[in-house]
Amino acid sequence: SRTPVTVTITGAGGQIGYALLFRIASGAMLGPDTPVRLHLLEIPQGLRAAEGAALELQDSAFPLLSHVEITDDPAVAFRGANLALLVGARPRAAGMERGDLLQANGGIFGPQGRAINEHAADDIRVVVVGNPANTNALIAASNAPDVPKDRFTALTRLDHNRALGQLAAALQSPVGELRGVTIWGNHSATQFPDVAHATAGGDPVPALLAARMGGTDAARSWLEDQFIPRVAKRGAEIIEVRGSSSVASAASATIDHVHDWVLGTGDGGRTSAAIWSNGEYGVAEGVISSFPVVAEDGAWKVVESLDVDEFARRRIDASVAELVDEREAVRSLGLI
Ligand code: NDP
Repeated sequence: SRTPVTVTITGAGGQIGYALLFRIASGAMLGPDTPVRLHLLEIPQGLRAAEGAALELQDSAFPLLSHVEITDDPAVAFRGANLALLVGARPRAAGMERGDLLQANGGIFGPQGRAINEHAADDIRVVVVGNPANTNALIAASNAPDVPKDRFTALTRLDHNRALGQLAAALQSPVGELRGVTIWGNHSATQFPDVAHATAGGDPVPALLAARMGGTDAARSWLEDQFIPRVAKRGAEIIEVRGSSSVASAASATIDHVHDWVLGTGDGGRTSAAIWSNGEYGVAEGVISSFPVVAEDGAWKVVESLDVDEFARRRIDASVAELVDEREAVRSLGLI
């Protein structure tokens, strides 16, 4: 049988961790032929919750699950890691300044980046889920100088999937027929969900929206006044309706991200992921920004040469400006 893949999950005792573990162990992330070893990292007060989840993993008798290790030591957690899902983060508390938030997360993602640099396997691939995800990924990458920068990513797949869900509902089209949706920029309220190049069943989405809504102006105002803000603020809507933040959908998107990165986007075509910018589409170099991407041979590639109109340019620039701001803030705090 195949050698198990070592998957490190931080904050594994939390809500998203709980939703992730069982899907990873079932084979949903890496396929039905790949056994996994799980390394669960928690802070001391989270260890019991992680231990409880591990008992339930045992009780699920997953044939693909070869071992579970639970620790509060990053050196142990990242030893031999092939994949790292960085979920645990310091949430924004009421009245907390952005600088305090970034400082607290620097205290988490700096040491984790160093532990990854020192202890992870050569093929390590990292996805950051804990917010502010893009900048936390930048902090980790900057503290792991021996790991190629393209191995550090942040999750915008949940935003991407939310955009697909909204579009499918508006067009009354099966979600599986949608292609070419893009999330640009930061995983924050400034993100830009872009459907200019999207298709549904092969037909251009802008034209389909115009036909449904009675003209291009109506379609554009739906996109600007409803679709974009609803996708960007969906997290708040979930909290309001459900009474607590999104968990299963965040875990599901994390599974999708890693699945596609490792196994390829294949026929499903383009998706969105926040990856190290080399200046594509005029995005500042050296920030972790969301782009239209495909994955091949274990690497994300930006889909180039899409036409960016003036409206899209403004939206992308605004979100990237926020990423550059966050980078300046963590730089001045000495975190990168
Ligand atoms: P969750 O598992 O619900 O969330 C974890 C992180 O995911 C949060 O930072 C949250 O950011 C982020 N997140 C990103 N996208 C989403 C989304 N769409 N919906 C909801 N959350 C999202 O939090 P819990 O408090 O249940 O669990 C966190 C665990 O992490 C705790 O067990 C804690 O002990 C642990 N922890 C571990 C650390 C470590 O291993 N070193 C360090 C810090 C914490 P946001 O706050 O913006 O919602």
